[in-house]
Amino acid sequence: MKTKTLKKNKINVVTLGCSKNIYDSEVLLGQLKANNLEACHESSQEDFNIVVINTCGFIENAKQESIDTILQYVDAKQNGLVDKVYVTGCLSERYKPELEKEIPDVDAYFGTRDLPRLLKTLKADYKHELIGERILTTPSHFAYFKISEGCDRPCSFCAIPIMRGKHISTPIEELVKNAENLAKQGTKELLLIAQDSTYYGLDIYKERRLASLMNELSKVDGIEWIRLHYAFPSGFPEEILDVIAENEKICKYIDIPLQHISDPLLKSMKRGTTREKTYALLDQFRKKVPGIAIRTTLITGYPGETEQDHQQMIQFVKDVKFDRMGIFTYSHEENTGAYKLEDNVPMEVKQNRASELMEIQQGISYDLNQDKVGRTFKVLFDKAENGHFIGRTEYDSPEVDNEVLVDAKTNFVRIGDFANIKIESAQEFDLFGNVIE
Ligand code: SF4
Repeated sequence: MKTKTLKKNKINVVTLGCSKNIYDSEVLLGQLKANNLEACHESSQEDFNIVVINTCGFIENAKQESIDTILQYVDAKQNGLVDKVYVTGCLSERYKPELEKEIPDVDAYFGTRDLPRLLKTLKADYKHELIGERILTTPSHFAYFKISEGCDRPCSFCAIPIMRGKHISTPIEELVKNAENLAKQGTKELLLIAQDSTYYGLDIYKERRLASLMNELSKVDGIEWIRLHYAFPSGFPEEILDVIAENEKICKYIDIPLQHISDPLLKSMKRGTTREKTYALLDQFRKKVPGIAIRTTLITGYPGETEQDHQQMIQFVKDVKFDRMGIFTYSHEENTGAYKLEDNVPMEVKQNRASELMEIQQGISYDLNQDKVGRTFKVLFDKAENGHFIGRTEYDSPEVDNEVLVDAKTNFVRIGDFANIKIESAQEFDLFGNVIE
């Protein structure tokens, strides 16, 4: 018979998946603190007796990682190291009945919009007055800033609308208040995130309002950088480009997952755009905002992808020379539009195509970085590691993009501060330089 640990009540929140899950975990931590409940995030100590796992249910690999993490803590519970294991987030939203049957040792499963019920189970009350207030799990000088929840797009490969529901924008006033709260805590950089950030406002204002939101956020004292993630190509509101070009606080950076470039696949994926329109849009980015850094994400091995489609993708990557690029191999997801298609590209081919594209990108990134040698950039420093202070330019987002490394023996910067760095040398994904006063 499993006995109760003798540990005092302390909740360890574990976050898997994307920046939106990080945001949700931070909101949960904020609510727990406001209820005077002791909590921590991904603690390596073993002083907690309750675990809340915020899962990801996006694609196969992510789902497997979530299941492994659940089993790890169920194991800890069976060994008397923790008393309670709770699971929330996308995997739980998507597969609750199956999980309850297959992993019954979890004390309870919650969906992605179940915070009040989860809090009640943790003997806490949901505090409405706290909306947007949260405990950052990132270094306090930057924060993921969720501007909306859910998605109305029909992309055939994507299970996110199943897990996150319909698109709901957060009103501008509330977002500005959240930004002011963060700025008071020392946050300087806001990373705007959503499932589709360019859709912002269409539900509550019946028009796209991302440009005015970005301008309003830039008026918040203390906020110095605003970075746009998860833009969507079709119906792209070009007024955003003017804001990025004219407003100093808006990073000359845009993350726009494009997924593919071949017309038959863009059609089957229900992306609402074409090869020609995609090239034209990227051209417009560079015309309207010279020097803008473009990050994208592509998928290889979507059902029916031919060698010719892949060759088009190779040419696309060579033509556009993205500043930053991520690749996913297609994952055949139940209840998505593409699930009725045959998943006919072998995993090996999916992976080979992904490696081929990343190899090309590595060369492009190397060349683009050589152009930065000898130039000076404003850098925000995130951490100190292995004898270096490590930061980012406005062209780099945390965790996924290039880093600037400064030797700590010959330079001094404060973490969370900006400094001007002259770039002395560069590799594929790293720049090396020194502080110049
Ligand atoms: S925009 Fe498309 S890919 Fe992105 S979350 Fe929505 S449905 Fe998924």
